[in-house]
Amino acid sequence: MAGFQGKSVLVLGGSRGIGAATVRRFAAEGAAVTFTYAGSKDAAERLAAETGATAVVTDSADRDAVIARVRDSGPLDVLVVNAGVVVFGDPLEIDPDAVDRLIRINVAAPYHAAVEAARRMPEGGRIIVIGSVNGDRVPFPGVSAYSMSKSALQGMARGLARDFGPRGITVNIVQPGPIDTDMNPADGPFKDLVYPSMAFKRYGRPEEVAGMVAWLAGPEAGFVTGAMHTIDGGFGA
Ligand code: NDP
Repeated sequence: MAGFQGKSVLVLGGSRGIGAATVRRFAAEGAAVTFTYAGSKDAAERLAAETGATAVVTDSADRDAVIARVRDSGPLDVLVVNAGVVVFGDPLEIDPDAVDRLIRINVAAPYHAAVEAARRMPEGGRIIVIGSVNGDRVPFPGVSAYSMSKSALQGMARGLARDFGPRGITVNIVQPGPIDTDMNPADGPFKDLVYPSMAFKRYGRPEEVAGMVAWLAGPEAGFVTGAMHTIDGGFGA
């Protein structure tokens, strides 16, 4: 596979889970990949050694650092914003600072990164943000702040698709359902919550999400923009 030979790809939040699978996919297809991480230095260094991608530390909660990282990555063909956090629990008990941090990482960083990338993105550029099926549906309590952040991405993608469409840049959201990662392990506490809603009684694999990201970044998806792409085993059906 060499579908992204000569392409420059930046993945924000690439050290683990869906982000790491995305880094592997683009690197395997010949792209020059840079990815950011915040806390997982060892995992990031291992992934960089494995794939030949470049790992750089950048906290997505820090707006100026995110903007500088995108700017310093040069003209990008593909920007993938994957970094995301979840705050789970009773909203009456959750620390408001944790909610504000979630909004900085899950909403503000994708917006500022997308805008900064678009400044120098060539025609045919691709901006892809990892949202969640919880942007559409919230079938259990405890995830209101997270769901709010993923719904916000939908409005962002619709608007930026129109802003950047005249320049041939697409903006899309990938909305996973339950995917087996550190955030949501297949044998973890959310399993009993999500299984009743699923058409397939299994968690998705990060590689399956990376496949959708790669399709959106590729030449077949040139007419796809301002849209949400759900990959959830029927969770939201
Ligand atoms: P993981 O927790 O397994 O991995 C999160 C990744 O994001 C890590 O590489 C982490 O890097 C990075 N990250 C988190 N916070 C920051 C930060 N402040 N700055 C930079 N990087 C950061 O999560 P998943 O792979 O499961 O999730 C990836 C995306 O997919 C998220 O946006 C999530 O909301 C979404 N999603 C996941 C689902 C699931 O079931 N797993 C379902 C629906 C959506 P580091 O460790 O270095 O900080």
